[in-house]
Amino acid sequence: MDRAYFTQDFRKHLEKLVKRDSVLKGRIQSKIEDMMNDPFRNSEELVGAFKGKRRMYIGKAGHRLIYGICRECREKNHQNLNSCLDCNSKDDTTVIFFDVIHRSEGYRNY
Ligand SMILES: [Zn+2]
Repeated sequence: MDRAYFTQDFRKHLEKLVKRDSVLKGRIQSKIEDMMNDPFRNSEELVGAFKGKRRMYIGKAGHRLIYGICRECREKNHQNLNSCLDCNSKDDTTVIFFDVIHRSEGYRNY
C-alpha cells in the first residue's frame, strides 16, 4: 500500500488497540486495504477541530478510522489542517491515516 501513510499517533494507537486482539488487527488491516479503493465511500467529513479529516467506521463494534485524502487536501486547501506539507508531490489517491480509535475513548471525540 504505497499510497497509504500512517502517522506516529496512528501507529501507536493501533498497536495499543490490537495488542491482545489479533482478530481486530486483521479486521482493521482488511478495512484499510478495502477502503483504499474508494476512500470517500461510506465516510463522513469531520468539522470543527477535526476539519480536513474524514471518519469511517470499521464494522459495528465502534472502531473508526480518522484520515485525510490528498485529492481533498488540495481541492479544499486542507494541507495545513492535515500537516500534509508535501501534498503536491503525492498522488490524488494518497490516504493519510491520523488515528484509529474506539468510541469508548471519548477524550478524542472524533
Ligand atoms: Zn495531502
